Amino acid sequence: MTRRTALAANLVMLVLLSACANGEPAPTRSPLPYPTIPQVTATPSAAPTGTAPPGTPPTKPNRKKPAKRGTVGPLNTQRLTGTRAVALTFDDGPHPQWTPKLLDQLRRARVRATFCVVGVKVRKYPALVRRIAREGHSLCNHSWQHDLKLGSRKSDQIRADLSRTSQEIRRAVPGAEIRYYRQPGGKWTPSVVAVARSLGMRSLHWDVDPTDWDKKTTTPQIRGRIAQQARPGSIVLLHDGGGDRSRTIGACPQVISSLKRKYGITLLR
Ligand SMILES: [Zn+2]
Repeated sequence: MTRRTALAANLVMLVLLSACANGEPAPTRSPLPYPTIPQVTATPSAAPTGTAPPGTPPTKPNRKKPAKRGTVGPLNTQRLTGTRAVALTFDDGPHPQWTPKLLDQLRRARVRATFCVVGVKVRKYPALVRRIAREGHSLCNHSWQHDLKLGSRKSDQIRADLSRTSQEIRRAVPGAEIRYYRQPGGKWTPSVVAVARSLGMRSLHWDVDPTDWDKKTTTPQIRGRIAQQARPGSIVLLHDGGGDRSRTIGACPQVISSLKRKYGITLLR
């Protein structure tokens, strides 16, 4: 570097630093042809990595570009297991037709899963919730009646809904541990996350959504999407209630065996 270019570089540095000191944002790219200029940020980062600022609408999982998925869900919710093993989660049950079939499959494969149950269904089918717990699976609170707008209601309404659901689960399974809450539709808000936390529950998002909830999704599509999108630590979203789940039940034996072989299947605790 000649003396003249070194002087020019110093001058640009000074201009940059004074611009930053005035509160103007630092340019994102160095105007200099070499990368030695120190990065100066005008303001300290407002949010920790992976945390969306308040008011940010929940993001939909990007199904086309799984490579861009982060390690946490919307509003810092849990997206990965934290180990290489993946976790299976089944929502919207229990259901008298589908849940027993699924429990049979899980038992045959010797894997355990997490069931995100809806309060009104728990009230209707407490024996199924008891079987879920008896066979070693985890129970997750999925709200009283699957209210998609629950997150935008008042905190006391959210608290009443979540508490009522947990009480109903414990009425079926006395002393049940309920470590997770999953917001219907993944429509997380800061208040629903905060209320769940205050009730001792972590907010459970997912990493892979094969859209088995969509009637148009076929059994091979459920299998294919999971095979394509799963990565180490993925939490997989599936459903054992909320409609005709024959396609999910049809996909599960192969989904379970291939995930088990490739990553291992862990129980969320
Ligand atoms: Zn649901």
